Amino acid sequence: MTTIFKKIIDKEIPAEIVYEDDQCLAFKDIHPKAPVHLLVIPKKEIVSLAHLSEGDGPLVGHCLVALSRIAAEQGLADGYKVAVNCGEAGGQEVPHLHFHLLGTPATK
Ligand code: 5GP
Repeated sequence: MTTIFKKIIDKEIPAEIVYEDDQCLAFKDIHPKAPVHLLVIPKKEIVSLAHLSEGDGPLVGHCLVALSRIAAEQGLADGYKVAVNCGEAGGQEVPHLHFHLLGTPATK
C-alpha cells in the first residue's frame, strides 16, 4: 500500500523536511501538537512496530540516533517526548512506521 509518507519520501507531495539521509527522513507534522512536532520515518516501507523483522534492528536504531541529533538541533536538549502509535487500536493513522518527536525548545 502506498501511503502519504511514501509520497513524501518520493517528493511527490511537499513536506517541511528538516533532515534526510539514505535511510530516514524527518519532517514537520502537518497538525503539530507541540512547538516542535516532527515525524522521523525510515525510508523502507514498514507498516508499524508490529511489522518489524529481526533485520530491521539497525535501521530502527539509525532512525533513533538521527532523532536524538535532530532533537538537539531543534533546541530540545532539555528533553522531549518520543511517541509511536502502533496499529489502529493504538491510534496509528498512517500505516508507515513513524516516531513522533515532540517538545518545546528551551528559551535562551
Ligand atoms: P499517527 O496517528 O499515525 O501516529 O500519526 C500520523 C501523523 O501524521 C499525524 O500526527 C498527522 O498529523 C501526520 N500527517 C498526516 N498526513 C500528513 C501529511 O500529509 N503531511 C505531514 N507532514 N504530516 C501528516
